[in-house]
Amino acid sequence: MQFAHDTELALVEAAALVNTVNGSEDQLTDRAALERYLSQHPYSGQRLGTQEELDGVRALRPQLRSVWEAPDRDTAASIVNQILATTDARPYLTRHDQYDWHLHVTEPDAPLSQRIAAEAAMAFLDLIRMDALGRLKICDATDCNDVLVDLSKNQSKRFCATGNCANRMHVAAYRARRRDSHQA
Ligand SMILES: [Zn+2]
Ligand SMILES: [Zn+2]
Repeated sequence: MQFAHDTELALVEAAALVNTVNGSEDQLTDRAALERYLSQHPYSGQRLGTQEELDGVRALRPQLRSVWEAPDRDTAASIVNQILATTDARPYLTRHDQYDWHLHVTEPDAPLSQRIAAEAAMAFLDLIRMDALGRLKICDATDCNDVLVDLSKNQSKRFCATGNCANRMHVAAYRARRRDSHQA
């Protein structure tokens, strides 16, 4: 494996969070929606269930997306530094639930959005350090803007995992080929 397990997990979670908003479609519109999201994407630490908590997580999405959209490594690095600066990150080792000693960078009672932001930022900085930002991709489907993390060995992933994009695009390509052969 090329990246630490923590890093891979945090990247995948960051992508999932970014993908909760897609144009006008937003999956995190209210506190109940955040609750549902967190039951599938659990984070350890304190939950408040407040509007403020929801607003914080929602506001984080464009920030995280900007790392995917950064035109170069220097820009990405400065975005990640900005994110880290908002989180009051202080690294320490911890052991909880079924997880052996691992790194946390925020206290369990820090605001949820800060904890998510710090985890994502630590993973991003790993990528930047290893000059592997190419792993952060935006779905290649013409009608999809979702982000993805390509952890495949040959870095060949083109489509997001959330939608049905790979299938949809293959079918479209197949139909286009058929049309061409009929015209010939
Ligand atoms: Zn932990
Ligand atoms: Zn897609």
